[in-house]
Amino acid sequence: MDSKALFTISYGLYVIGSKNGDQINGQVANTVFQITSEPLTVAISINKKNLTHEYIQASGGFTVSVLSKEAPLSLIGQFGFKSGRDIDKFDGVDYQLSPGGIPYLSRYALAYLEGKVIQTVDVGTHTIFIGRVDEAVQLLDGEPMTYAYYQQIKRGPTPQAAPVFNPAPAAEPQEKYQCSICGYVYNPAQGDPENGVAPGTSFSKLPDDWTCPVCGAGKDVFEKIE
Ligand code: FE
Repeated sequence: MDSKALFTISYGLYVIGSKNGDQINGQVANTVFQITSEPLTVAISINKKNLTHEYIQASGGFTVSVLSKEAPLSLIGQFGFKSGRDIDKFDGVDYQLSPGGIPYLSRYALAYLEGKVIQTVDVGTHTIFIGRVDEAVQLLDGEPMTYAYYQQIKRGPTPQAAPVFNPAPAAEPQEKYQCSICGYVYNPAQGDPENGVAPGTSFSKLPDDWTCPVCGAGKDVFEKIE
């Protein structure tokens, strides 16, 4: 059996919002899909270890924010590589509350849904929550972030020869470095424009206080690859 065959399955990328009393939380998920249209239901699959799991079980509701392609890595990092047990996930993030009082992203989301849990399926490590959609709102025009697109960006494909965007001298080391925490790859040819690092900046020339744009880890946890 070749488990890599499963990598060919397509997914989107979403932020699942949840609440427990007056506490709010959110996490990134790729497993969101519509089950039926009459009544309108969706399913989400959530790891039992996650705070979001606890909150959805407690409140019986969740939101789904559909990420736009423009969503920055730092936003995905905040919701995907950190725990709501350690930080307030919505700190510094533009969000609003759904009619049920559950947070959703008001920026970088094309749409949001609010679901009320009508059934749960225990699948071992995860629970599948099936929700009746009580609210659905389009927020932005644009293209949705797919998991494949995110991976492509995150892995940093080598751009086509474009001298204007690749001003590095030929002698400059162009080794890629990978974050050992989250897997993000720093590609000198791309730099980190979201954080003011120009394309062509080698890893050694990054400022000492530069951090992983996805998970926020320091330079010291990066390892050279290739
Ligand atoms: Fe990282």
